[in-house]
Amino acid sequence: MAKTEVSELAKELCKKYPDHPARSLAKVLVKQCNNAVTLETARAMIRTCFGSFGRRYRDKATSPRKPRKPGHRIEMPKSKAEDWVPFELPISSGKLGIISDMHVPFHCEVALGSAVEHLKQEKIKCLLINGDGMDFYSISRWEKRPSKRDFMGELKECRLLLQWLRQEFPRIPIIYKLGNHEERWEKWLWEHAPEISEEPEMGFSTWLHCDKYKIDVIGDQRIIMVGNLPVLHGHELGRSVFNPVNPARGAYLRAQHTILISHHHQTSGHADTNLFHHETFVWSIGCLCELTPSYMKVNRHNHGFAVVELMKNGDFNVNNLRVLKNGKVRA
Ligand SMILES: [Zn+2]
Repeated sequence: MAKTEVSELAKELCKKYPDHPARSLAKVLVKQCNNAVTLETARAMIRTCFGSFGRRYRDKATSPRKPRKPGHRIEMPKSKAEDWVPFELPISSGKLGIISDMHVPFHCEVALGSAVEHLKQEKIKCLLINGDGMDFYSISRWEKRPSKRDFMGELKECRLLLQWLRQEFPRIPIIYKLGNHEERWEKWLWEHAPEISEEPEMGFSTWLHCDKYKIDVIGDQRIIMVGNLPVLHGHELGRSVFNPVNPARGAYLRAQHTILISHHHQTSGHADTNLFHHETFVWSIGCLCELTPSYMKVNRHNHGFAVVELMKNGDFNVNNLRVLKNGKVRA
């Protein structure tokens, strides 16, 4: 093999493995060219490509890199992983109201009205909308009835709901945790307007006027910490959590921790004790939307919401409430 051919091979190797030690690449080169050059010559060729074979040959470098000492060790690549930390509630004691799964514009006026009235009487200090407040039917991936598709109309209804909630609770913090239905917004943007999808102006908060009504939006499937009680919408736990008998038990099997979830449109509870008699409680709360949605007319859904009493030490008491057909609230 001619020396120029070996030199071409050296260039390719350096281009392919820009971070490898010159000696290792030289050994590979000798093998590749069937000993047409000695190890020393091969190393000189490799170092020429890297621009580390003396000043005279520096302009011949094809894959220049900073000179390094023998035995140089490369660094671990930088991670792009992002922090995922829970959101701490802005109150440290008092009552928190949790409503969810209104699926506006398919909300149940009686159930939602009763829940809000009850929470007002309870004098809650903070309101948590625990996901699926809006349905975003028009941008769903599922088949849609053409007569029901009116995206702008849906957005207006959703804004109206938030405006109404702010009116009913004018002075307390309102937190809006995004559920799987709100995630449709982000996914729809990624698909239809990827270039501008991550601009703040395109965000859920801006479009739904959350800033205007001073409603804090919590995305990224973050856990909401209510003292020592973690709250999730429920879809974060994955699909296998689906349990036709008891959603709370399904959630327990995934989380193995005390937790409160929504998402399943069903009031349920589960308690368990471990080897050291440490007790774990899981609650799933009911929905505030129509009970016979077009995608599943027959189901075991029920209306409900929750009041969580929070103590200064992080302790809490969950009141998992149901709303009956006539609007009466029952534990
Ligand atoms: Zn959901």
